[in-house]
Amino acid sequence: MSLHEAMLYEKIDEKRVNCFLCARKCRINDGGTGFCLVRKNEGGILYSLNYAKAVSAAIDPIEKKPLSHFNPGAMVMSVATMGCNFRCQFCDNWMISQEKKIAGKHFPPEEVVKAAKDNDCQGISYTYTEPTIFFEYAYDTSKLARQVGFFNTFVTNGYMTPEAVKTIAPYLDAATVDFKGGADPEFYKTFSAVPSVAPIFEALKEMRINNIHIEITNLVVPKTGDSLERIRELASWIRDGIGKETPFHLLRFHPDYQLTGTGSTPVETLEKAYVAAKESGLDYVYIGNVAGHPCESTYCPNCNEIVIKRYSFTITRWNLTKDMRCPVCGHNIPITGKLHPGGHSYPYAII
Ligand code: SF4
Repeated sequence: MSLHEAMLYEKIDEKRVNCFLCARKCRINDGGTGFCLVRKNEGGILYSLNYAKAVSAAIDPIEKKPLSHFNPGAMVMSVATMGCNFRCQFCDNWMISQEKKIAGKHFPPEEVVKAAKDNDCQGISYTYTEPTIFFEYAYDTSKLARQVGFFNTFVTNGYMTPEAVKTIAPYLDAATVDFKGGADPEFYKTFSAVPSVAPIFEALKEMRINNIHIEITNLVVPKTGDSLERIRELASWIRDGIGKETPFHLLRFHPDYQLTGTGSTPVETLEKAYVAAKESGLDYVYIGNVAGHPCESTYCPNCNEIVIKRYSFTITRWNLTKDMRCPVCGHNIPITGKLHPGGHSYPYAII
C-alpha cells in the first residue's frame, strides 16, 4: 500500500518539516515522527501512517458521543485509528490510543460510507481515539459521506490548530470537545503531558465561527480534577465564548490505565459540579456515565419541564413540539437536525 501524504504541514528546508495539524506544531527531522507517532517525515515529505487503518468501527447511538442536542436518536458509524497527541494516564481507550506500533484493518473511506449505509446510520463519527491525528482519513471520509447525505461528527480533545478546524469545517457538522479536570492547566501538564490548554479554547472559537454544532464535556476526576472553582470558570468561559445554550456534560471518571489509585467520581461530586455549572449561567448541563440519573434528561430552562427524557443513551420520552419548543411554556429548545425515532437498541461492533 502506498504512503499517504499528510495535510497541514510545511517544509522548513530540504529535509525538515513543520506539522501544524495540532497545537504541538512538531518540527520533524528526516526519518522522524511527530509526538503522535503516526506522522512521519520521509525525505522532506510528511506522511500519515494510519490513513485508512481502522482499529475500531462500530454502530453507536449519537447520545454515546455524547451529543444530546444534535439529531437526537440518530445512529452513527464510529471509526478510529491508532494514535493520539495526548498521553492521558487515565485513557479508557489506551490500548488503541497509546500503542506505538501502527496496526489496523484496511478500511478506506468508501467502505466506511458503505458500511454506514448498510447499517442504516444517519452519520459518521470520528471517535474513540483523537480524530485530529487521523485527519486525512477523516477528511476524505467526511467529504464522501456528505455527498450521500450523511452528517459528520468529531469527538475530540480540541487540541487542533485553527487551520485544521477551518480545513475540516466545510464537512464537519458537530464536535464533542472533551475537557479533563475542569481545564486546569496543571492537571493537563501532570496527567496528559499537554503543555497548555489555550489552543483548545482557540479551536472552540474557530468552530463557533464556522457554525459547527458544539457540545462540551468535562471529565471530573476525584481529588485531582474536581475543583468547583475550575468548573465555574470553564462554564463561565463557555457561556461567554460559545453561548449559554451550549450543552455541557459533566462525566464520571472510572479508574483505568495508569490512574487506578483513585475510585470513580462520587455522584455527589458530580451533582455539586452540576449546580456550579448551572449557577454559572449554562442552560443545558448534564451528568454523564451515571445511567438512570435525572440529569441525563433535558429540562426546559424556562419552566423546568422535562422535554427529553433519557436513560443512558436511549431517549425514553420525547416531549417537544414539532418546532422544538417546550410544550408547556413555548420556550425554544436548541436542537440541530431532527429527531430520529430509534429502530436500534444497542451499539454493535464491525471491527
Ligand atoms: S499531529 Fe502529530 S506530528 Fe502533527 S503537530 Fe500534532 S503531534 Fe505533532
